[in-house]
Amino acid sequence: MPDVQRSVAIAVHGGAGTLDPSAMTPEKEAAYRGVLSTAVRKGHAVLAGGGSALDAVEAAVRVLEDSPLFNAGRGAVFTADGTHEMDAAIMEGTGLRAGAVAGVQNVKNPVGLARLVMERSGHVMLSGRGAFEFAHQQKVALEDDEYFFDQLRHDQWQEVRGSTEVRLDHSTGEKKFGTVGAVALDAKGHLAAATSTGGMTNKRWQRIGDSPVPGAGTYANNATCAISCTGNGEAFLRAVAAHDVHALMSYKGLSLEEAVRIVVHEKLPPLDGEGGLIAVDKDGRIVLDFNCTGMYRAMIDGNGEVVAIFR
Ligand code: ASP
Repeated sequence: MPDVQRSVAIAVHGGAGTLDPSAMTPEKEAAYRGVLSTAVRKGHAVLAGGGSALDAVEAAVRVLEDSPLFNAGRGAVFTADGTHEMDAAIMEGTGLRAGAVAGVQNVKNPVGLARLVMERSGHVMLSGRGAFEFAHQQKVALEDDEYFFDQLRHDQWQEVRGSTEVRLDHSTGEKKFGTVGAVALDAKGHLAAATSTGGMTNKRWQRIGDSPVPGAGTYANNATCAISCTGNGEAFLRAVAAHDVHALMSYKGLSLEEAVRIVVHEKLPPLDGEGGLIAVDKDGRIVLDFNCTGMYRAMIDGNGEVVAIFR
């Protein structure tokens, strides 16, 4: 099918924030760009081979989770207790099925566990100890605490350890960035989205952000679009940000670009919602937008590959 290649589209992100171009060395930038490119290509290869949007977003997010450069899987930020509690979600736009995990520890690829929650648990979201029990039962890959350790994340935590301050991964000193996600459209017109995160540095009380919550940080609906968000999770939860993009398109008939602009630049800022999102619509148009200085992002559509960090 010659038009299979033309119609598929995929985008990934590795977090957004107040990024300082002067803090970025050429080596670091090359490393970030390299992983973003590997992730988006991995997902695109799935799509190009006739695979599903769901498989594509999972494959792309796994690459980002496996890299210590991003706040998800390996390299997840530290909680106030010095642990790593990860959140992830995956959603497909055909049957509006979704799976999510919140506050899971020692799971190598939380996005894969979220997928299993969707397909095998009969539920949408599992958390903490129960999610771990399910992970065990499903025989997903587990790693010990050392696997998740990253010196920079540890330093970030030391800066606020013992205080009540909770920080976005990317708002401290050396500025390494956050949450990861992917959105995709496959050749059959199916949309899917996935998001994975370690949340916020020094978080307490098993705080959970927007990333694993369908409609807040992650959403997909074949009628409109697929979305993955990154930023201050409390604001994205209150704005129901991902679903709001869908709603503006569905109820008001807005284009993806206009719907994303309204959510990112009008609805989120009054709620202190610094951040951004990646989106793809049912026709394969991709929008990557943010209301801060940068967002780690990459996309492949009919026009080829783009990898970018700053505006
Ligand atoms: N949205 C994530 C959270 O609040 C953080 C991030 O995007 O880096 O958990």
